[in-house]
Amino acid sequence: MHITHHSSNIYIAYLYFMYLIKSAFAYYTLRISRRTPYIMLYISFLLAACSPNPYAATNRVYKQQAKTLAQTLRSAPGFIDSVKQPPYWVGTTNFNLRKPNFVIIHHTAQNSCEQTLRTFTLARTQVSAHYVICKDGTVHHMLNDYLRAWQAGISKWGNDADINSASIGIELDNNGFEPFAEPQISSLLQLLKTLKGSYNIPAANFIGHGDIAPTRKNDPNYLFPWKQLADSGYGYWYSDTANVQVPENFNHLQALRIIGYDIKDTSAAIQAFKRHWMQDTTRQMYEADRKILFSLFTKYQ
Ligand SMILES: [Zn+2]
Repeated sequence: MHITHHSSNIYIAYLYFMYLIKSAFAYYTLRISRRTPYIMLYISFLLAACSPNPYAATNRVYKQQAKTLAQTLRSAPGFIDSVKQPPYWVGTTNFNLRKPNFVIIHHTAQNSCEQTLRTFTLARTQVSAHYVICKDGTVHHMLNDYLRAWQAGISKWGNDADINSASIGIELDNNGFEPFAEPQISSLLQLLKTLKGSYNIPAANFIGHGDIAPTRKNDPNYLFPWKQLADSGYGYWYSDTANVQVPENFNHLQALRIIGYDIKDTSAAIQAFKRHWMQDTTRQMYEADRKILFSLFTKYQ
């Protein structure tokens, strides 16, 4: 009996011990299952942080080129051979870097942001931009704003024939035939606010690639929300034209020229104007178009 009693005590102790182990196990299982999403998130974060940048090699090229250009900036100006030489060089103490004064907006005419990032990191393409904005609103800042991107190409606005030297280029991921995504435009507006503030860019100088190269380019496409930009202070817009009286002697080509268009090819200039301010892709000037142009060009005088 004594033994039996003793063994039953052991048995109860055993059951109690098992109960404790099971509870502890259940408790930790619960804790782990509750934390699992966080643990997985943490692990994926670690993996992302450790995964190599697929553009590491081209980023090294960027840094090397920036270093070379920095050397150009550091070198003191030399003497000019064909003119009378001073006895010694005198450098001024008062200077800083030149700033961009235009923003040129593009559509990429490609099928994804990733495709454009690749295009802008291949030497043979000879094209680039300061910013690429993806459809989801992600902004890739690919080039220091003070450096010259290869985005405008042969182009002209007013009498400025080197737009690349004076501008920031922004590429929007868009194939050229589709509306622009809302998060993309929202990021663009944020970016424009920063650029306008940093470089004091005039409202009139937020323009499209198609505006400065009317015979070659049509970007951003006619669905681009220029009015929305103008309403926020980036670009100009016209007011209600219902009561506008266009003077008899109003010359629409001169007006386009005053706005900035290169009018060497007049119908290309008209088409560019209508794409930007009327979301229209035709090349004829009708009375309604003349009213809008007249109302608009007064803002540029
Ligand atoms: Zn373009």
